[in-house]
Amino acid sequence: MTRLTLRYTALTDVGLRRSNNQDSGYASDHLLLLADGMGGAAAGDLASSEAVRVIRRVDGETSPGDALDHLTDAVDAANRRLGDLIEADPAVEGMGTTIEAMLWDGEKFAVAHLGDSRAYLLRDGTLTQLSVDHTFVQSLVDEGRITPEEARFHPHRSLLLRAMLGRDDLEAEYSWLRPHAGDRYLLCSDGLSDMVEDAAIAAALSAESIDVAATELVRLALEGGGADNVTVVIGEMVEADDDGSDLSCADGRPQLVGAAAANPQSQQVDVDLIDSTAHVDVDPEELRYAPRPPSRWRFVRWIAFLLVLLGLIGVGGWYAYRWSQQQYFVAEDGGYVAIYRGVNADLPLITLKEVESRTDLELDELPSHRRDQVSGGMEADNLADAERIVDDLRAETEQQNTPTPTPTPKPGTVTAEPVTP
Ligand code: CA
Repeated sequence: MTRLTLRYTALTDVGLRRSNNQDSGYASDHLLLLADGMGGAAAGDLASSEAVRVIRRVDGETSPGDALDHLTDAVDAANRRLGDLIEADPAVEGMGTTIEAMLWDGEKFAVAHLGDSRAYLLRDGTLTQLSVDHTFVQSLVDEGRITPEEARFHPHRSLLLRAMLGRDDLEAEYSWLRPHAGDRYLLCSDGLSDMVEDAAIAAALSAESIDVAATELVRLALEGGGADNVTVVIGEMVEADDDGSDLSCADGRPQLVGAAAANPQSQQVDVDLIDSTAHVDVDPEELRYAPRPPSRWRFVRWIAFLLVLLGLIGVGGWYAYRWSQQQYFVAEDGGYVAIYRGVNADLPLITLKEVESRTDLELDELPSHRRDQVSGGMEADNLADAERIVDDLRAETEQQNTPTPTPTPKPGTVTAEPVTP
């Protein structure tokens, strides 16, 4: 059997409408890797670059047969890394990335796929899409509700159903792939596949060398609108004897492109550099996670918020209750004048007043205007004030019930009493 070896190249472009590159790409003679980061300008590049940084550690560490295990472990490790970053800095919550990876073990490829980045194979002049997009529109195509052509222009074509989000529910697809001599493999972000039709991709990928192919593919994406970052990672299987003098990667070293090459830090993103005109329309990238349920950390934060709120209500309520129990008023209790502690109002299920003391002063004995006041409740400043009000009521009542002696008019004075004719 002929021994095969892998030529490789990687190329990226920020595109015509975005101000930063959230794609990351990596290519070596054992690993082709691409990640399309999402989650806003501050985090998408962090997600893709960290994923690539973690996953590319498997480069060259495999022997025939164990590549798929290694790749699975690496993808899981990258996912945990994103989870750790999100836990450490909630500002980057919601960031995520697609993953497209092919790990060469010397005989075959271990392949990982997650999201809407794509893997294509060009074999004998025929282009085949190896990956199936984890997107909403692909699910509609699968159900026969729209055609692949309609999916290309669907308003929600960027909506992902799966991505690497740093959560436990990672659903990457893994498979083995046995290459043939002459095969060309293309990993690309949706910045290419959204802009360029498969026929044009096939033509460009058939160029005389994979470096020319990469340049042509990026050029076609920009010519098609360049609405998104565009990244291509290309590998070509060549017979080992043919290897050497015309390596596509001239210096034989791995290539790292995009956000991973820029080593982004989310907190260092300069928002002034972000092209505001690129966000005037509804940006499909902003909608990519719409169908996802809230993450566990958002849930935890909501619980914490509710507990704090309930605590504040509890503390506030306790102080309010304490205050209410230092208030006094005079009102009726069982037909008698009484001093109440609390406030002269009730809340549903809560009583805010209680009788402090009941006097022997009957309500019916009070002067009529005082009777009405007591029935409605007479506010007091404190207990002593309430007792003074009771003393006043008692005095007025006694005065009312005591017959007043009629003064004897002095001679020469006129009484104010009206004279009844
Ligand atoms: Ca993209």
